[in-house]
Amino acid sequence: MIDLIEVQREILATIEALPAMECALSDALGLALASDVFTADAIPPFANTAMDGYAVRAADTVDATDASPVRLRVVGELRAGRAPTIAVGDGEAIRIMTGAPMPDGADAVVMVERTERAGDDAVVIHTAVTPGQFVRAAGGDLQSGARVFTAGTVLGAAQLGVLASVDAQRVQVTRRPRVGVLSTGDELVASGALSPGKIRDANRPMLLALLQRAGLTPVDLGIARDDEAEMTAKIDDALDACDAVITSGGVSVGDFDYVSTVLERLVEADRDPRAQVNWYQVAIRPAKPLCYSFVRGTPVFGLPGNPVSSLVSFELFARPALLTMAGHTEVQRERLTARAAHPMPRTPDGKIHFDRVTLAVVDGHYVASSVRAQDSNTLAATASADALALIPDGDGVVEGAELQIQLLG
Ligand code: AMP
Ligand code: MG
Repeated sequence: MIDLIEVQREILATIEALPAMECALSDALGLALASDVFTADAIPPFANTAMDGYAVRAADTVDATDASPVRLRVVGELRAGRAPTIAVGDGEAIRIMTGAPMPDGADAVVMVERTERAGDDAVVIHTAVTPGQFVRAAGGDLQSGARVFTAGTVLGAAQLGVLASVDAQRVQVTRRPRVGVLSTGDELVASGALSPGKIRDANRPMLLALLQRAGLTPVDLGIARDDEAEMTAKIDDALDACDAVITSGGVSVGDFDYVSTVLERLVEADRDPRAQVNWYQVAIRPAKPLCYSFVRGTPVFGLPGNPVSSLVSFELFARPALLTMAGHTEVQRERLTARAAHPMPRTPDGKIHFDRVTLAVVDGHYVASSVRAQDSNTLAATASADALALIPDGDGVVEGAELQIQLLG
């Protein structure tokens, strides 16, 4: 058996980000920037008011209180979107709406709730304001020339808003990897009634969904029979059509487990010195067997067939590698600490166990409870899991013990 970290390291050593491409902001959600973005404009581009109220000279308000308010002459009105045309002089104020530019002469805003209008030409101010109060400075969020985001930043909703505000309408992003998913096994049917010995393919829809949720482009490659020629043809096509390939099943030591055989042939025929196929027995449970190959410039993840093993193997090996291809710089799931809600016994076997757990928050701490079954085939039981709990080699943990957990979504 080989350590998890060693396998993750060996896989990532073969992986590079895909080439950059230009893309419209409207297509960029979930993609990673391939270059830094700078802004020519300051944001906000001009000093403006944070409140509806009156733009004033702070010095005119120093003595204003509820008991002895100050009266100022109203010389104009400014709405958002209008450029100021008149300045505020001594003893004067301009009615101003949130977002409108500060007029010359004014250095503060009195919020409308602390004023009282006195006819068309005057306002009574009930409070003192200090210079700069309720004024949003030009460049307060981003200075002109500032670096807005660095390469590798994943574009979410807020990032897209910021890019629009600095008029970065087209951005350099890392291309979204196309990832093929192939199920293998004579027992598999996609849907419909089951004849004896058959089961429905759970891994392909699950893996396609995991890819989609990771912001990658899933490519459905269907099911391959346990037949070397058919599997060779399907993987061969997939290497041309996809940036990466995921297979499930056929990597154990069964008599009809052809995935590694097929990949060995394809690697032999590949002149690229980086071409390799590695058949690992990883010191984890579930998901011990893994066939990782790099062939014709394409990573191929041969995941185990049991659905829970497939899920865990995807999380630990495929996902970080595929996100690296997508240009992400943070590719590992978050790990947190939780307390065991109950004893989680196990037997020593040299492996880290990744038990599936649900999480609750009790007194401000995460508390982890096992899902109802921890077998590698019980996907329905695993479906409720929020996280994987790392149970180190040994006899397990007692109730209340601190556990490392790795979030699933
Ligand atoms: P294998 O790795 O091919 O030996 O498969 C291990 C177990 O996982 C067997 O019980 C298979 O029937 C099951 N299995 C393999 N592929 C799938 C799949 N796509 N969906 C559901 N179960 C599967
Ligand atoms: Mg099989």
